[in-house]
Amino acid sequence: DEKPLDYFLAATAKKFPKKKALHFMGKEMTFEEVYTEAKKLAGYFQSLGLKKGDRVAVMLPNSPQAVISYYGALMAGAIVVQTNPLYKERELEYQLNDSGAAFIVCLDVLLPRVTNVRGKTPLKHTVVTGIKDYLPFPKNKLYPFIQKKQYNMVVQVEQSEDIHLFESIIEKSDGAYTPVEIDPENDLALLQYTGGTTGHPKGVMLTHYNLVANVQMCQRWLYKIKPGEKILGVLPFFHVYGMTTVMNMSIMYGFEMILMPKFDAEDVLKTIQKQKPTMFPGAPTIYIGLLNHPNLNKYDLSSIEACISGSAPLPLEVQDQFEKITGGNLVEGYGLTETSPVTHANFIWGKRINGSIGVPWPDTDAKVVMEDGKEALIGEVGEIAVKGPQVMKGYWNNQDETDNVLKEGWLFTGDMGYMDKDGYFYIVDRKKNMIIAGGYNIYPREVEEVLYEHEAVQETVVAGIPDPYRGETVKAYVVLKPGYEVDEKELNAFCRENLAAFKAPRIYEFRDELPKTAVGKILRRQLADEEKEKAA
Ligand code: ATP
Repeated sequence: DEKPLDYFLAATAKKFPKKKALHFMGKEMTFEEVYTEAKKLAGYFQSLGLKKGDRVAVMLPNSPQAVISYYGALMAGAIVVQTNPLYKERELEYQLNDSGAAFIVCLDVLLPRVTNVRGKTPLKHTVVTGIKDYLPFPKNKLYPFIQKKQYNMVVQVEQSEDIHLFESIIEKSDGAYTPVEIDPENDLALLQYTGGTTGHPKGVMLTHYNLVANVQMCQRWLYKIKPGEKILGVLPFFHVYGMTTVMNMSIMYGFEMILMPKFDAEDVLKTIQKQKPTMFPGAPTIYIGLLNHPNLNKYDLSSIEACISGSAPLPLEVQDQFEKITGGNLVEGYGLTETSPVTHANFIWGKRINGSIGVPWPDTDAKVVMEDGKEALIGEVGEIAVKGPQVMKGYWNNQDETDNVLKEGWLFTGDMGYMDKDGYFYIVDRKKNMIIAGGYNIYPREVEEVLYEHEAVQETVVAGIPDPYRGETVKAYVVLKPGYEVDEKELNAFCRENLAAFKAPRIYEFRDELPKTAVGKILRRQLADEEKEKAA
């Protein structure tokens, strides 16, 4: 179907007007209501002078307004720029300048941050939305990123020439907007900045067609799930993973999404018991967080049928334990921002191979390329490249980086891996994560997998840190499970039993928690930077 993404909101609203589209902390909205509000916002953007191709930043946690703003901006012909509400001024300023966004939708509490940077950016209009309409609920649950003391500072926002109130737009507008001609294959829907786990964020240009195609593939994977079933939205929508697999998936196929603005393990357990979702896309750290919750056994999680875990390797014990507890299927998938994001997964109701990311999705080609540009043999490790309708057009204003990764339609993922004889793919590690210690190549993931096998280890990340003799040395950061006590000596003995000596970490550091990105990916780079600072 070559239609713009927002076409599907209109279509679903027509097909299932009274079906629920979303649940959010006690509030519910039907597809018709979501569509009506999105139209109002679209018309309002146009009345402010928004033209096709203008950029609209959306800086919101999962909430009805996040869905409405995203679709409203698309309906007005804009390109959405997803902005992490955790961004500090420096990051926000960079993203507004890089994308050239003249419009932003943000939370009232984030307004001071936006106001402080607007003079240094092309930003003209700010649409502000508040939480007052969605009370009652504990504020601190909604805005984990806002410091306690700021709660009292209720932000009183006044409408002005360039500040607009979301709630009054919805109240007053008649919903008239001018539909915009979109060429789905060439017109951009989204600038999605890469997570920045490894460096400076780049704006990934995704077209309407890219996004629609990826959701259609997703639906083919989840073919047993029917409209009206519920999908748990813990993954943030401002990240491409949650956006595609929860938000766009629900809008295109009429699923009910349960919006959770932050990950709180007990809240998620309670919500599953109460709302009975059948689908739950997540990331390993999310499932780990649930499995380690002391009250896990108090909750009934048996509604869960289909989960795909992506964004980082899924430890086998986590997969097994989660499946035992829910009775559903949890399979590993793979993708990246540059591919909208999913390219591979194991079958949910079919063949899966533990430790593998599965097979390429429908219409997706994948291959493994060696250093010399030749295709790898079965089992040989090289860089994974993918081609398909979900592959980005390139990086925004960055032809050099685009040329580095996009070659004749193939996207070079930066991930090292191999394919087995049945066409299942395996990730060894990121090219950039490879540690070179004393001349040996070490992939942190292999070391992490061994550490995860130790009964006391809840979470771990392994990184190469500068070493005067060996170039780099292997260091493990470890979070222990509650109630366990082990020391460096014991972990070291365990690693040496299970790994060649050169791979075993030389240094261990125990922490209460590890720094993570919005989808719960452990921020290796932040840990590496800390080491550099320490050394300086
Ligand atoms: P940046 O690209 O700026 O470094 P990021 O890593 O957060 O940031 P994303 O596009 O969010 O960027 O993540 C994509 C990467 O996540 C992939 O290239 C891969 O390294 C990793 N990844 C995703 N799924 C898996 C998986 N199942 N197993 C291992 N790694 C995975």
